[in-house]
Amino acid sequence: MRVPAACDVLLGNGSDELISIMSVACSKPGAKVVAPVPGFVMYEISAKFAHLEFIGVPLKADFTLDADALVAAIGEHAPALVYPAYPNNPTGTLYDDADMERVIAAAKRSLVVIDEAYQPFAGKSWMPRAADFDNVVVMRTVSKLGLAGIRLGYMAARPEWIMQFDKVRPPYNINVLTQATADFLLDHLDVLDAQAADLRAQRAVLAREVAALPGMTVFPSAGNFLLVRVQDAAVAFETLLTSRVLIKNVGKMHPLLADCVRLTVGTAEENAHMIAALKKLAPH
Ligand SMILES: *Cc1c(COP(=O)(O)O)cnc(C)c1O
Repeated sequence: MRVPAACDVLLGNGSDELISIMSVACSKPGAKVVAPVPGFVMYEISAKFAHLEFIGVPLKADFTLDADALVAAIGEHAPALVYPAYPNNPTGTLYDDADMERVIAAAKRSLVVIDEAYQPFAGKSWMPRAADFDNVVVMRTVSKLGLAGIRLGYMAARPEWIMQFDKVRPPYNINVLTQATADFLLDHLDVLDAQAADLRAQRAVLAREVAALPGMTVFPSAGNFLLVRVQDAAVAFETLLTSRVLIKNVGKMHPLLADCVRLTVGTAEENAHMIAALKKLAPH
């Protein structure tokens, strides 16, 4: 997984558990978490469970990072944790390098958790630089690579951080079946990488086809999904369901996501089926 030699690794029962571990480790009266919104919901849920205050900083309307606002929030709140997801879920945005560097530089008293859950589809990663900063953790999972059910996430950071988080890791959090499966996975990484490469190619095809449909706006995605603004997200969800296609209506998640749905990229055949179902959504 190309973890730098200067980093240690901590495993979690999915990266969800790592988020929980970091929240618990950083919990003390007044401690805060800052993350761009809309983003991955577990940052906020985990923060609340651990009695940390969550502050969401809205992305720009095109879902790129509002680096000025994020840097300002970091300065104002001095959060324990800052969570840029790279790429972001559910928007698929891969934040600009210079913006990320600004955030890391501004977060001198914080830990910046770069969540690379969708890294197999991104073609870019902060992992090679994980040890270059004393305030960065890079977090990954095998879930989106195709093995969500084995529940295995990992984080890489300088040993000083890993040592602290290990104190609140539940003992035996990674069971032997998961370990054996992960061993098998590492022997066949080429198969999963090839599958991810195929999904990346299919994503480009699907994005072109959806963008050509009337009334649909496709946002650039570095994940295995597309965020699409439709005329009515609830109607889109129901219409596709009648064709036995399950999409995610994220329209109510955040005001910036009004009438947006998330479409998962599948095989060429599955995507063709989804496009046919989307064509039933006549513009009104
Ligand atoms: C799916 C996801 C996770 C959690 O993955 P696990 O299955 O718990 O490893 C974390 N972050 C983001 C952004 C995700 O999309």
